[in-house]
Amino acid sequence: MVDVKEVVELNLKESKPPSIFGLTLSELEQWCLDNEIKKYRAAQIYRWLYPLRAGSWEEMTDLPLELREKLTAAFSFFVSEIESHQIASDRTEKLLLKLNDGEFVECVIMREPNRSTICISTQVGCAMACVFCASGLAGLTRNLSTVEILEQIVRLDRLMDEQEKITNIVVMGIGEPLANLANLLPALERLHEGKTYNFGTRRVTISTVGLPEKIRELARIGKRYSLAVSLHAPNDKLRTEIVPVNKNIGIKSILEATDDFFEQTGRRVTFEYVLLSGINDSPREAKELAALLRGRNAHVNLIPMNAISLLDIGGSSAETARAFSNLLNEAGIVSTIRKRKGADIDAACGQLRLPKVHDKIQLSK
Ligand code: SAH
Repeated sequence: MVDVKEVVELNLKESKPPSIFGLTLSELEQWCLDNEIKKYRAAQIYRWLYPLRAGSWEEMTDLPLELREKLTAAFSFFVSEIESHQIASDRTEKLLLKLNDGEFVECVIMREPNRSTICISTQVGCAMACVFCASGLAGLTRNLSTVEILEQIVRLDRLMDEQEKITNIVVMGIGEPLANLANLLPALERLHEGKTYNFGTRRVTISTVGLPEKIRELARIGKRYSLAVSLHAPNDKLRTEIVPVNKNIGIKSILEATDDFFEQTGRRVTFEYVLLSGINDSPREAKELAALLRGRNAHVNLIPMNAISLLDIGGSSAETARAFSNLLNEAGIVSTIRKRKGADIDAACGQLRLPKVHDKIQLSK
């Protein structure tokens, strides 16, 4: 396992200067002052980096040449490289990014009329090992650094044309976000710093397997991020079968933590439920789920499972999904069925990074 410190060291070994995206506005202001540059230049640089989407120092034409030279010597732009860029027939776009230690992560743009949602990753691999998800098939390699998380957002934003802007962010890519909260939160904070994207916290949804202590921590940071919990089963026996980490957690303590989150933030929690054919999609489970969530200000997001070539579990039919949803709605639990996006480029949930770890998994089988 490689930790973040090692990656930083690797960067130093390659004598690559640190990424400019690693600096907050006040850190950049401090850098300016330390280098006898007027403080207001920092805001000017920030404007180029974020809303103006500059790709190089040369583009920042209203900065003095001497400053641009200093910046070139002190900072690099991106720490990742684009390994591949795919566009699906529904205009879903996926970037496969190569990190400086040779690992890969993916991030995605999903489009609806007037809505451009991006999905970002927080770890290389995942330790949760949910039986229907491809991200955990080869285990967890390491956490992503703040810069590596932020860079996904910046890179996806730059794939958009001038009129298009990111409207929503879902932290639902590879990894367990709440297991890497320390690096995720500073990356998200950068989005609503004055001169960046001016992005509202409510339009960011953090999805978790359900780590109670971390949910409580997130409730107390004073930000109004949206929370989604991947529940997937209405009782512990079934949940532990499909989400193995549940063994040491249990649904009760997750729901106590989400109740606490609602109390602290006033934000309704979304429960995600992947529909797996013949496993968790019968009317019995729908009724059990409704009973479990009754009285809670909850919303259920039903996700027909996306097929994964290495797994033999299948998704429920559209008909079964509708019946499940109707039973929840009749019982007073609001539910929606999630639309599939980008399936023809393997960008749909659970499929990220699969090609790059495919050989590794085959070998270990
Ligand atoms: N670890 C976090 C975030 C990543 S998973 C979490 O568990 O929430 C994001 C969502 O995709 C989760 O709800 C997850 O259960 C779902 N998902 C994973 N594999 C899937 C698949 N094959 N088909 C559909 N949804 C899947």
